Amino acid sequence: MIVVLKQNANKDQLENLKSWLTNMNLGIHMSEGTNTTIMGLIGDTSCVDIDLLMALEIVADVKRIQEPYKCANRKFHPKNTVISVGETKIGDGNFMLIAGPCSVESREQICSIAESVKQSGANILRGGAFKPRTSPYAFQGLKGEGIELLLEAKKETGLPIVSEVMDLSQLPLFEEVDIIQVGARNMQNFALLKELGMIKKPILLKRGLANTIQELLMSAEYIMSGGNEEVILCERGVRTFETSTRNTLDLSAIPVIKELSHLPVVVDPSHATGIARFVHPMSLAAVAAGTDGLIIEVHNHPSAALCDGQQSVTPEAFDKLSREITQLLALIKEFDTQ
Ligand code: PEP
Ligand code: MN
Repeated sequence: MIVVLKQNANKDQLENLKSWLTNMNLGIHMSEGTNTTIMGLIGDTSCVDIDLLMALEIVADVKRIQEPYKCANRKFHPKNTVISVGETKIGDGNFMLIAGPCSVESREQICSIAESVKQSGANILRGGAFKPRTSPYAFQGLKGEGIELLLEAKKETGLPIVSEVMDLSQLPLFEEVDIIQVGARNMQNFALLKELGMIKKPILLKRGLANTIQELLMSAEYIMSGGNEEVILCERGVRTFETSTRNTLDLSAIPVIKELSHLPVVVDPSHATGIARFVHPMSLAAVAAGTDGLIIEVHNHPSAALCDGQQSVTPEAFDKLSREITQLLALIKEFDTQ
């Protein structure tokens, strides 16, 4: 339920209203816009008497929210959310370019890739230390050592880092990781999501292999309802009958999510296509469709990569792509001001 307040609502009356609602065990989410202030009510609102609310002097309107997600809902929070990571921001016109290898393999590998993607304009370094692999015999990541190496690359380049947590027990190792990634396979690991709701750190939440947009938003809701509102949603392709690509990139998820939610959206063209040469066109397509960022796998020696080499672009290819992304973003800004 949302309560739209009148402009310049009396402060004492507002405090009375808040305590009345909290006494009914409802959470309150305030969202101040330029013209209106919206009060989002979280919890079981069936006990709220709408007529009584409407009759209050400070209330302009009351609306029930049909969608099961509240904190992630644009109706609760009309303005785009902006999330800051170091000096970088994402959302509301701020573009985030995340790049790096699928997995951290060695000090030389991660530091060399970090340096080149930084030179090419990436503002966040990615690298998996805990890898969710289909085969238990495949490389599982360097685990704690991988995080240590990422931190070294961060120190050398100044780039903030993002890495995937697979299990609650690994969380203590992520203290200095700037963004915690929840992978597609864990999108509905509710115990993990709840725990991430209690920390103060941006979460990159990837869409599950066969999950709807509403399910993705409900997973974001698990994190946000715990108090952590810094969620970045990631479209990384979904399973379809098509076999020419690893997954099918659902580009329409970008405008759909932006309509339904205020959270920033990034696109992962690497896992979506699974093929390095398709990363370039799909990145540009995602930018044209309005994504707030991209997460791209880059490897300095793709054919020798321990994980996802076939979808990793070289630093040279990434450099060319990054320049085109910058040009396309400038062009889109021009359209927006026309
Ligand atoms: C990854 O980012 O390396 C990864 C495993 O992605 P996803 O969870 O989208 O498959
Ligand atoms: Mn990968």
